[in-house]
Amino acid sequence: MTTTATIQEAQGPKTARASAQASLAGLGREALRDRLAEIGIPERQLRMRVNQLWGWIYVRGATAFDVMTDVAKDLRATLAERYALDRPQIVTEQVSVDGTRKWLLRLPDGKDIETVYIPEEDRGTLCISSQIGCTLTCTFCHTGTQRLVRNLTAQEIVGQILLARDRIGDWPGAIAEDPTGLPSGERKITNVVLMGMGEPLYNFDNVRDACAIAADGEGLSISKRRITLSTSGIVPEIPRWGDEAGTMLAISLHAVRDELRDELVPINRKWPIAELLEACRAYPGLSNAKRITFEYVMLKGVNDSIEDAKALVRLLKRIPAKINLIPFNPWPGSAYECSDWEQIEKFAEVVNRAGYASPVRSPRGRDIMAACGQLKSASVKQRASERLAGAQA
Ligand code: SAH
Ligand code: SF4
Repeated sequence: MTTTATIQEAQGPKTARASAQASLAGLGREALRDRLAEIGIPERQLRMRVNQLWGWIYVRGATAFDVMTDVAKDLRATLAERYALDRPQIVTEQVSVDGTRKWLLRLPDGKDIETVYIPEEDRGTLCISSQIGCTLTCTFCHTGTQRLVRNLTAQEIVGQILLARDRIGDWPGAIAEDPTGLPSGERKITNVVLMGMGEPLYNFDNVRDACAIAADGEGLSISKRRITLSTSGIVPEIPRWGDEAGTMLAISLHAVRDELRDELVPINRKWPIAELLEACRAYPGLSNAKRITFEYVMLKGVNDSIEDAKALVRLLKRIPAKINLIPFNPWPGSAYECSDWEQIEKFAEVVNRAGYASPVRSPRGRDIMAACGQLKSASVKQRASERLAGAQA
């Protein structure tokens, strides 16, 4: 567990200031093709040019056109005149004592999001945001206190991966400026989880397109088996996600009774536990090799009894599942406490005995407020009455 310690905080800009030109970094093949057509690249060359740029942007991490040695000089100049390869701009970068990194990133319209990188010995997980804020109001989640500002574009979602790879030196031949806690393997980002700000299934198309770019075998090559989407339970979108994106799935379950889940995860009033689990059972490709992760936040005296643990394993009985117990991460003004460690262990033992291995997620980056559910940028959730007044004005 992390303790408070020196936080290295770098004030931006770490990356170049945002250019006036539109960025090509983070675009999909089709959008890239359109941009190239706009500057007069002949139709018959488009495919080849897209492939060239694709390799530079997604395999080598190019941040400028002048390094693209296999692209003719005058074309490089035209590209640089019209376009840039900017990533989201860094406002702050924090490095936890455990090596976890949190970036506050600014988008071209001035809105902020957060991205978190969690290194381990043999892997590195990048936790990315899908929306600015969230429309949902799960009572234990800090992001839930922030109103939804807007959906992120696919480019902004992919941009978080590019920026993180820049900062941790995860491109061929690159070196990290600060190597604290980085994994020993060649690739520093092996997994991506959509567990940052927002409900990804409420930004379905952009998240799906971003996952396709991330998984592209000629580019970033983060296989779909290593991408996990976490949802609070937007039931009708779950089968569609399986068909159209096919990544791994995580469900924010957090309670085994509707009465309690209605309170903790209010979307449960619309799609209760039974319907949610039905959608899980039918998830395309589900098997013992491709299990669904059920996330369960440990709230002291709320959902952490042994009875709850037993009910949890009963509930998930015939679903190929992993269980992830998340110690509650407190945030200023939160109404809950994290379960006592002893209680978490007892709860985990029941889950463990039912055949689920290593069910407790160790909290990472708590000293920099980077842990699950602690993410929140500056915008504050309006009261419903204020929103209504705003809408009527
Ligand atoms: N909106 C999506 C994904 C983002 S939240 C979802 O809800 O699934 C990622 C995970 O962190 C979810 O399981 C969420 O319930 C959990 N979480 C939120 N706040 C938390 C907190 N304060 N402590 C621990 N986990 C939290
Ligand atoms: Fe939104 Fe997920 Fe937080 Fe709920 S837990 S408020 S769905 S980000």
